[in-house]
Amino acid sequence: IWEEACKQLKGILSGDIYDRWIAVIQCMEIKGERMRLAVANDFYKDWLEENYFPMIRKAVMVVSGKEMEISLEVDSSCFDSVKPEPEPEAPSPISLPTLGFGNKKPSHNLNPNYTFESYVVGAANQFAHAAAMAAANSPSRTYNPLFIYGGVGLGKTHLMQAIGNHIATKKPRAKICYTTCETFLNEYIDALQNNNVAAFRKKYRKIDMLMIDDIQFLDGKARIQEEFFHTFNTLFESHKQIVLTSDRTPSEMAGLAPRLISRFEWGLVTELGKPDVETRTAILRKKAELLNLNIGHDLLDYLAERVSSNIRSLEGALIRVATFMSLTNQQVDVQKVEELLHDLLDKESQAAISVDVIQRTVAEHFDLRQSDLTGKRRSRDIAWPRQIAMHLSRTMTTQSFPVIGEQFSRNHATILYAHEQVSEKAKADRGLQQTISILKDKVSKNCVKAV
Ligand code: ADP
Ligand code: MG
Repeated sequence: IWEEACKQLKGILSGDIYDRWIAVIQCMEIKGERMRLAVANDFYKDWLEENYFPMIRKAVMVVSGKEMEISLEVDSSCFDSVKPEPEPEAPSPISLPTLGFGNKKPSHNLNPNYTFESYVVGAANQFAHAAAMAAANSPSRTYNPLFIYGGVGLGKTHLMQAIGNHIATKKPRAKICYTTCETFLNEYIDALQNNNVAAFRKKYRKIDMLMIDDIQFLDGKARIQEEFFHTFNTLFESHKQIVLTSDRTPSEMAGLAPRLISRFEWGLVTELGKPDVETRTAILRKKAELLNLNIGHDLLDYLAERVSSNIRSLEGALIRVATFMSLTNQQVDVQKVEELLHDLLDKESQAAISVDVIQRTVAEHFDLRQSDLTGKRRSRDIAWPRQIAMHLSRTMTTQSFPVIGEQFSRNHATILYAHEQVSEKAKADRGLQQTISILKDKVSKNCVKAV
């Protein structure tokens, strides 16, 4: 079955991608409805799960004629003797110190696809991109540390690794270390357990460049902060470039030691924002080109328009559509896309609804001002619409009670109370049910306008 599925996938994916990502998978076992696949390291596993898993599942389904439960494991042992590295002739782009951390050779821990060439620049990321280029061109002489922050799936990891790939190409001998903060922490714990802290320190302090991804993971973990503080100082003092990413700014990490916060702010702190629709379109076209997909521009534009929350979802949408097209040999139209992506698109429209739009819509409906809803007056003609707005804010957005509370200048208990009051009353009150449904419609319409 697996071989057949591979043939399917080979037909869909460009040869390069197939060789790099699919050919390296080993099928360990097929038992009934279960299939166990294995790859050599975490990097492959993460990347496959993030990008190609739906495609693999679909291909297996097509050849086996049934839905199978597929698991992907890391098994480094079975690869040493059986399979050569994906590109045996090329030297590993990164030379990593391999100092006694198990037998796993940490090769290939930069994703070769995450380069500046494949990174699309737009209004929301141009400063971060310029800073990253500067750091890549003259490491440790421009921004050190470089601290990149932004929401999920907005390109932090890609941009960070682009710096690493750039330096690795220009200076093949440079010792570049990329790791997630979580791995850093786990290795430290292992080292503590095995009395191996000296080796751990050597590994992270004898390098030319350190990239730590998702550093917010340090937040609230004092012991590893201490360890990282010393690593940071050692590298910084010997003029080694440090790049960090996070989902928030240093000062927003409440559980971070002040001395670390100040160090993170020594260099440059730069934000990755949400891309505008032009950038999203450009990204999709680039990805379609890189993946060799034959999808019309009008469809790409539609996807770029509809999927706006982050780039990872955008990419996921593209891959889903492409998978469907190649497995069924069908062209798709907008209606089909909506069907294929309905869960994703629902989430997108929910993300687009804000408390602000709800307040405006409710105020307009009851002929009030928006400031009445957030203000202090308690007369019933204002208090009731206000409670309805609070209820809608809770049901139509993904925001928590405290966050909604802030936007009404109230505490979370008030919002909770209003939400329960309105829900309770609506159970028996047809008129209220109708009002709520009319308001929901209006909110959705106003959101489309706002986007
Ligand atoms: P984060 O680390 O911020 O969660 P990633 O760097 O993993 O986000 O990005 C998610 C996906 O979006 C990756 O596949 C990445 O290649 C892609 N991506 C993000 N930003 C861009 C961009 N500006 N141009 C092209 N692709 C991008
Ligand atoms: Mg990331």
